[in-house]
Amino acid sequence: MSDVMKPMPFGQLMDWALTEHERQGSVFGVRRSASYAPGSGIDLFGGRIEAPFGPAAGPNTQLAQNLVAGYWAGARFFELKTVQVMDGAELSACIPKPCIAPGDVCYNCEWSTELTCADAQAEYVKGWFACKLLSREWGLGADDGFIFNMSVGYDLAGIKSAKVDGFIEGLKDASATPAWEECRSWALANLDRFEYVDAAFVEGISPKVSTSMTVSTMHGCPAGEIESIVSYLLTEKGLDTCVKVNPTLMGYDFVRSRLDSLGYDALSMERSSFENDLAWDDAESMFRRLIEVAKSNGRQFGIKVCNTLPVNVTYNELPADQMYMSGVALFPLAIAVVRRIAERFEGKVHISFSAGADENNIADLYHAGIWPVTLATALLRPTGYDRFAKMAENVGTVENVSRRRVDVAAVVALDEACVAGDAYRRPERAQGKRSLPAALPLLDCLACRACVTVCPNRANVLLDVPGFKRKQILHVDGMCNECGNCAVFCPYEGRPYKGKLTVFWSEGDMDASDNEGFLKLADGTFRVRLAEVSGTFDVDDESCGLPDDVRRVIQAARDNYAYLLG
Ligand code: SF4
Ligand code: SF4
Repeated sequence: MSDVMKPMPFGQLMDWALTEHERQGSVFGVRRSASYAPGSGIDLFGGRIEAPFGPAAGPNTQLAQNLVAGYWAGARFFELKTVQVMDGAELSACIPKPCIAPGDVCYNCEWSTELTCADAQAEYVKGWFACKLLSREWGLGADDGFIFNMSVGYDLAGIKSAKVDGFIEGLKDASATPAWEECRSWALANLDRFEYVDAAFVEGISPKVSTSMTVSTMHGCPAGEIESIVSYLLTEKGLDTCVKVNPTLMGYDFVRSRLDSLGYDALSMERSSFENDLAWDDAESMFRRLIEVAKSNGRQFGIKVCNTLPVNVTYNELPADQMYMSGVALFPLAIAVVRRIAERFEGKVHISFSAGADENNIADLYHAGIWPVTLATALLRPTGYDRFAKMAENVGTVENVSRRRVDVAAVVALDEACVAGDAYRRPERAQGKRSLPAALPLLDCLACRACVTVCPNRANVLLDVPGFKRKQILHVDGMCNECGNCAVFCPYEGRPYKGKLTVFWSEGDMDASDNEGFLKLADGTFRVRLAEVSGTFDVDDESCGLPDDVRRVIQAARDNYAYLLG
């Protein structure tokens, strides 16, 4: 099916990154980049991060190219997409598509990774290896200046299963995984493609891809189960562990009243979602016990604020029974949770954050002692990964700190400011609406680039094609899981992931899709399917029977963007 993502081989990933960087100065369509001075950064989980932010567990950390795009842009803390015992096709069948709706409030109905645990592990290993090579080659920062943080769910039995345990152990030490050997062999065989990477550097890359965890539990998970999971990870798995809490911790009445006061009164929630979730009194005593467990095992414990808010589908926002709210509207709820934790623990518990964070509030969060900060919703809006470079600018140089303290007074100020000002109020003008009452053309759209920047998987690519005034969009079938995000921002009536010319990586993928597109065949010809004509064509032959504009786009893809062809 065309909504199934196909991880690309490490060689293709690297060829794409190196070639695009050399020819266009961008990487997977990301134009802005941040680099960090030697020695900068802050210690965390036995490693170091040169910047206190990165992508959250979600669509922006599911494939290796997402991780590379984020690293290039300036992210240094990567919360890898959650894995659980239910994975691959079984999980994928439970995710209605589209699964992301980032209007003026952002909703989703997605879940953990749609890859298998083994494929997810391989993607994270490839992403790790690629970021190491590129850190050195492009001088982006220290090769140990970033951290990959695992995320697993959703119950202890699943986390202890052989499948999830193999995932965890294979990231704690990836040296025996097939993906590690694939990356290592490719790098050693392609040293001539690098100026600053040599064999000693390749052999010295640490296989300890991740030594830390963020625990994600389902809404409604009992307190005892959450505590057992975190204890298990701290003690038996030896991982520094953060537990992700829900905004429901503040209680229905508080959340309702705060949302109403900021203009979100149309948002519908169930009181039962709060009553079934972890309550504050249970949470506080659990945190105190877990702090002691971590201390006695020489590990770090932290609290991640926060998960999404379950809300009702009211206006057919998504094809689901229930959906999850994230983004700007979540910030005022999350900062209230942070305030409560900071006040009750006098700033002495580590708090990381993900809820409506972006370039505008990152400096305030970081300087209040709340870090690392991860993003999902902001990356799904126009400019996407480019935001990380702006965040780096706004945070400035990150100095190491020996003691981890949250500044309670600064958190109180943030909490009060977010309800007093307009920054977190529901915008009066709806966002993300189309403005062109015209059908999306197969070629020669406005080339506004929105579908390129908002795609978490980098599945829409801009091509320069001789003879065209504007750049052309090519959709890469293997990288798309039909999340629907690009369709929200395209100004035309239509969906880029369905309506733009598509490159396929295999006959099976092409057969499983209805998109108009093409596949390179072994003999150099192309299988092409268009509304008006289908067949096998020699695109160098002007009279081959293909419309000339399509023929020239395929020719340009072959000649100048061969890494797109699979
Ligand atoms: S191309 Fe569109 S639908 Fe596909 S993954 Fe990217 S944003 Fe989602
Ligand atoms: S397909 Fe739509 S969003 Fe993408 S560049 Fe063209 S007009 Fe913009």
